[in-house]
Amino acid sequence: MKIITFPIGTRSDKVKFGLTIVPALANLIAKSQEIPYTLALNTIDSYIDCRENYVKPYLKELDEQGIGYDDVWIDSGKEEFKKLLFNLDKLIKKGFITNQKRKVYKCRCGKVEFLDTGILNNKARLYKVIDNDTIQCRECGDTFSSEVVSCLIAKFPKVFPPKKVIPQNKTKEVEDTFLRISNMEYMVSRTRETGVEVEVNSKKFFIDVDFFWLNILNTFDDLEYLICGSNHVIWHLSMMCALKQVLSPNSETSMLLSPYIYKGDFNECELIDVHSEQAYIAFLGSLSWKKGNSVWNYQFLKCLKELGKKEYNYIINHVCKKLIKDNPENISKVNRNLILKLLKECK
Ligand SMILES: [Zn+2]
Repeated sequence: MKIITFPIGTRSDKVKFGLTIVPALANLIAKSQEIPYTLALNTIDSYIDCRENYVKPYLKELDEQGIGYDDVWIDSGKEEFKKLLFNLDKLIKKGFITNQKRKVYKCRCGKVEFLDTGILNNKARLYKVIDNDTIQCRECGDTFSSEVVSCLIAKFPKVFPPKKVIPQNKTKEVEDTFLRISNMEYMVSRTRETGVEVEVNSKKFFIDVDFFWLNILNTFDDLEYLICGSNHVIWHLSMMCALKQVLSPNSETSMLLSPYIYKGDFNECELIDVHSEQAYIAFLGSLSWKKGNSVWNYQFLKCLKELGKKEYNYIINHVCKKLIKDNPENISKVNRNLILKLLKECK
């Protein structure tokens, strides 16, 4: 068993607090289960080429918050990139990805490009559906119809949902996503230059970078994983598992979907020293596993003013050694009330 985070995108020198939730939870579970834990980072980007520069500030932030990991996987790293290319090649050789002439929608700037058999999404971020035949790119304003091009298509087999989803209330959503991926066709190539290139039957293709790094699990030999990401990336996490199943049908994956946290009132947020023990515990107690979306609980943070190293250790020990040791699912039982109860015990 191995724990891997969803490849977290490094995008700025200033690290958003929310980006440390997944590594923090993965770290707690890894500690309690005594299993190896890989922190995965995504820096490959078709549009921005300096995202590697943000890896150091991100790791520094985790370090300052006391969030550990066993090793770091970076998609643009020399070895990692080589393995991703190797696995892409395996997918092609296996016949999972094939070169086809297909009708696709694409705009002038190249941001929007998809198979005409794909379902149009009325709330899409990149394009606007004017009517069934006309789509407009939000970036370049181009309206476009389908045209026949030579492209690479991945055709998924029937894929199986994870054996366990934490928290359990997300199981249905994950199962539905696996149903959508099963037998789905996905256009892997792009006409625009993406930075990742392959050759199939002596023809060169650019590869959609997200598809490229989502093949992360095939760069490891293990067959059993717990993958951790926020509940906002269920689609991507499911694609990760599905791609692993294509090359390793015997692999088994469980999924931890962390709540998302919004910082609420900005001014108050600036007052938080996120590296303090109080902030870390307040953050654990602010996560709403039931709702999936949470807001920083500042009132709770104020209750924790007296919390020091001793109390912090007591709480973390209780969580790791008692609460989640036998069952990682219990991570979703960490809440404000539990923390207050533990603080009382500690006195
Ligand atoms: Zn466009």
